[in-house]
Amino acid sequence: KAKQSGGDGFHFFDDDLERSAVAAAALEADLRVALAERQFTLHLQPQVDFATQEIQAAEALIRWNHPVRGFVQPNEFIGQAERSGMIVPMGLWVLEESCAILADWKTRPELSRLVLSVNVSARQFQSDDFVAQAMDVFRRTGVDPRRLKIELTESVMADHPQKVSVAMSQLKELGVTFSLDDFGTGYSSLSYLSTLPIDQLKIDRSFVSGIGQGARGLLICTATISLARSLNLTVVAEGVETEAEAHLLGDVHRCDLLQGYLFGRPMPRQDFEALCLRSPKGRQRAIRSIA
Ligand code: C2E
Ligand code: MG
Ligand code: MG
Ligand code: MG
Repeated sequence: KAKQSGGDGFHFFDDDLERSAVAAAALEADLRVALAERQFTLHLQPQVDFATQEIQAAEALIRWNHPVRGFVQPNEFIGQAERSGMIVPMGLWVLEESCAILADWKTRPELSRLVLSVNVSARQFQSDDFVAQAMDVFRRTGVDPRRLKIELTESVMADHPQKVSVAMSQLKELGVTFSLDDFGTGYSSLSYLSTLPIDQLKIDRSFVSGIGQGARGLLICTATISLARSLNLTVVAEGVETEAEAHLLGDVHRCDLLQGYLFGRPMPRQDFEALCLRSPKGRQRAIRSIA
C-alpha cells in the first residue's frame, strides 16, 4: 500500500488513518440504525453463590443482532460507541431494558429476588442527566432500585471524580448498589475505595484464568478477597471456567459470588429464567451441565 504513494511512507499512514476514520464513521452510523431498529438485545449470565449453588444475580451483556453480520460481540463496537458518544443513548436503552426485565421479575415470586448487574460506561455515568434518567426509569417501571447493580470500571474515577461521587451517592440513596468491574486492571489508586460508596469488587477474568495451576493470579485473587473483606465489601469473580477455579475461589477462599462459563454462558433471557426456575437441586445439576 505504501508503494502506491511512491514510498514516502506518509501515505501509508494517511490511507490507514483515512480507512479507519471511514470505518469508524460507518460503524457509528450502523449503531444509530441498530438502536432505532431495535437490533440490540441483552444476554444474561448467572452469578452464583457457590456455597448454596443459588443464582443470586445476572450480569446483563449487550449483543448486537446485525441483519447481515449476525451476532456481533461487544468488543467489536463498545469502544467505538464510547469514542463517538453513541454509548450514551445505547446505555440508556440498556438501562431501560434492564428495568423492564426487573419489572417483569417483580411479578414472578421465583424471580423477584434476583439482582441485575448492568455495565455503565464512564462516559454515560458522567453525563449530566444520568441520575435523573435512572430515577425516571425507576419511576416509570416501578422497579425497586435495590435490585439494580451498576458495574463501573476504574476509568470512571479518572475524570470528574467529584461529579461521579455525587452521582453515586444519589443513586446509592435510592438503594442502587455498585460493583467495581475489572478490578485491578486499571491505573487508578485505591484511595477511591474509601471515599466512594462501592459495594462490591469484581475480580477480572485475567486473574482468575489458570489459578488452579498455581499461577500468580491466585495471589491477586486472594488479596482482592481479603481487601474486600476488610472494607466490608462483597466480591465476585468473573471468568470461572473450571471446577478447580470454582473450588479454590468458592470453597477455599470464600469468594461470595462466582460468574463464568462453568455456571453458564451469557444466554437469552428465556434460557436464564428457565435455569432459575429449576429446583435448587436440579439447578445445581443444570448449572454444572451447561459448562
Ligand atoms: P465485562 O463487563 O468485564 O463482562 C465480562 C465479559 O467476560 C463478558 O464478555 C462475558 O461474556 C465474558 N465472560 C464471562 N465469563 C467468562 C468465562 O468463563 N470465560 C470467558 N472466556 N469469558 C467469560 P462480553 O459479553 O463479550 O462483554 C465484553 C465487555 O463489553 C464487557 O466486559 C463490558 O465491558 C462491555 N459490555 C458488555 N455489555 C455492555 C453494556 O450493556 N454496556 C456497556 N457500557 N458495556 C458493555
Ligand atoms: Mg461487567
Ligand atoms: Mg468484568
Ligand atoms: Mg472484563
